[in-house]
Amino acid sequence: MYLPKNHFIKEESLPTEDYLAYFYPFDKPDFRKNGVESGWSVTDREGIAITMAMGSSPQAVAMGLQKECAERYDWLVKEFTDWAFTFMTSFLYYMDFDTIDEQTRSLYRQGISAFGGIAPTYRIALEKDSPVIVWDFHSLLIMVQMCFSFMLTDKDSDMRMCKHCKKAFVASRKGNEFCSQKCKNQFNVYKSREKKKGNKSDNR
Ligand SMILES: [Zn+2]
Repeated sequence: MYLPKNHFIKEESLPTEDYLAYFYPFDKPDFRKNGVESGWSVTDREGIAITMAMGSSPQAVAMGLQKECAERYDWLVKEFTDWAFTFMTSFLYYMDFDTIDEQTRSLYRQGISAFGGIAPTYRIALEKDSPVIVWDFHSLLIMVQMCFSFMLTDKDSDMRMCKHCKKAFVASRKGNEFCSQKCKNQFNVYKSREKKKGNKSDNR
C-alpha cells in the first residue's frame, strides 16, 4: 500500500480518505490532513506501541502494521497467480524449448518480461568491515517478489518444478527432478510405456 513520493509520483490522484478506504475496509482510521502535513490518532495499546516503535519510519509503514489494515483477497490471489505463472514459465521455457516453435518461445519471453518492474531503492552503508547494500523495500510484496526473482535466476537455488506433476517443490538434494519418489516412479513407468509403443530401434 505504501507509495512514497518520488521522481514520478508527485501528485495525488485520489483523495487520501478514498485511498485509505481500500486498506481499512472495517474501521476507518482517524486521519487528519493539513496540506502536506498529516496525522492520525491511535487509541488502542498495541497500535500505540507499533506507532512508537516505527517512529523513524514513514507514516505509511506504521499504518500498514495496524490491526485494521487489510488488503483485498482478490488482489492477493491475482498476485500469487502472477508469481506461479512466472515460476512455471521459467521452467517450461527450457524444458519445452526444443518442442515449441519460435512464436511460442517469444510468448514465454514476453510473459516473463512483464513480471517485476517496480524496483526497490537502495543505499550503501559503511558497515564495520566493508560497505553493504541496504535495500529499501517499500512493501512486503516487493520484498517477496525480489527474493523470488533472485531464487529463480540462481542456478544453485533449491526451487524446482516437478518433471512429472509440474508442481513447485524444494529440492532436498542437488539434481532432484521430482517432488516425490511416487512421481519419479510414475514418470519412469510412463516413459518406458511410451518407449515400448514407439520406435523399438530407439533403445538407448
Ligand atoms: Zn511431482
